[in-house]
Amino acid sequence: MRSARVTIPAFRLRLWVYAIGSLLAGTTAIASTTPAAKPNIIIILTDDQGYTDVGFNGCKDIPTPNLDRIAHEGVHFPEGYVTHPYCSPSRAGLLSGRMQQRFGHEHNPEGATDDNEEGIPVSVVLLPARLKTVGYTTGIIGKWHLGKAPQFNPLNRGFDEFFGFLGGGFNYFGEARDKDDSIYRGHTKVPAKAITYLTDDFSAEAVQFIQRNKANPFFLYLAYNAPHAPNQATPKYLARFPHLTGARKIYAAMVSAVDDGVGRVLAELKAQGLDENTLVFFLSDNGGRLDVADNHPLRGFKGSTYEGGIRVPFAARWPGHLTAGTVYRQPVSSLDIHATALALAGGTAAFADRTEGVNLVPYLTGMATGIPHVALHWRVAGGWDFAVRSGNYKLTKPGLKPAVELYDLTTDLREQHDLSAQLPAVKALLLDEYYRWDAPNVPPLWLDPHIENVKKERAAGID
Ligand code: CA
Repeated sequence: MRSARVTIPAFRLRLWVYAIGSLLAGTTAIASTTPAAKPNIIIILTDDQGYTDVGFNGCKDIPTPNLDRIAHEGVHFPEGYVTHPYCSPSRAGLLSGRMQQRFGHEHNPEGATDDNEEGIPVSVVLLPARLKTVGYTTGIIGKWHLGKAPQFNPLNRGFDEFFGFLGGGFNYFGEARDKDDSIYRGHTKVPAKAITYLTDDFSAEAVQFIQRNKANPFFLYLAYNAPHAPNQATPKYLARFPHLTGARKIYAAMVSAVDDGVGRVLAELKAQGLDENTLVFFLSDNGGRLDVADNHPLRGFKGSTYEGGIRVPFAARWPGHLTAGTVYRQPVSSLDIHATALALAGGTAAFADRTEGVNLVPYLTGMATGIPHVALHWRVAGGWDFAVRSGNYKLTKPGLKPAVELYDLTTDLREQHDLSAQLPAVKALLLDEYYRWDAPNVPPLWLDPHIENVKKERAAGID
């Protein structure tokens, strides 16, 4: 029988370590960063890409040499998490630097351009707005999905430039999936015939953005909608996968198109002499789709608080600053990307809004000891599904299941052996931790049909 006494997470000690680490994280980066040294920040986000659908996490059937370069020439985070198991709330967390349940952004916005309710609240300050105040030029290329009404538009939320679409998905050959959306350049609609293949077009725009802004600090949010549905690819990419068939073949081609694009971005950074002055993050917004993606060995998929829904491909590259080949095995969060960017931009003290992530650089360089996070938390649909991780333990209350489940991720990464009966003290501590975290959260500001689909899938017995 496992001993609960020796395996209980030491919350108090970790809280102390966390506080010291956070203090270091907040001060060292500012002290060592002068205005002239502000690095460019690029966040490359993919959509619904499986944990194991990158070479650096062991993918065998889809080569991703350029995504692998980010991890191999920088830092690989095998335990990188997002704040939500599907699209829009995850993006709300990433761009706000706060858990999205703090401000009610807990579902996908499905409203039209005249819907003033569904979108990230205007009171929430986003990363591009913060970076603008310390001299950055900011651009978004790709999927927004944080509201369509004018007050939610990325150009009104801190981005100087926008090439992409407002909703949650888009036909890759240029036709909008709904009448309230379009490809936009700024506020101007781009005709469908001007689109070649959306992933390629986004990559080309990213290269041009770098060329235009090479002389000043820039923030580029390159939010590919690939490999999100619809499954669409070109013969060029499909031809790379004669060993695959069906939807997996198309999905592989879509991932490969992203990888080519990332290669173009990295090549442009080198060509412009920006390699050592640009920090590139790569991650997926949530776990892979059930039908085409590979989250193995993780359990679950997009929409789930099992690891396969929330643990994602995650890497960072900053030559000359982060040691190539580093594998950082502590849990990290997409919130940390936000905090790291702010700290390196040198403006942390100027931002009154509290962010909840941690500057990772001191941890990666060894200047900070301890761990970035005492615990990480997830809440879906107002608590219909929730989870908390601390140390090696993970507690989850899956939707449609009657009770919480407890797993030891160091011995049971696939979450197969529920320890809640054997370790009641650990279960109680993690439940307490979840409810403590959840206490200041607010109810979802709106509901959406997506979660109803998830409930149907669960009811049908899928996972
Ligand atoms: Ca997604």
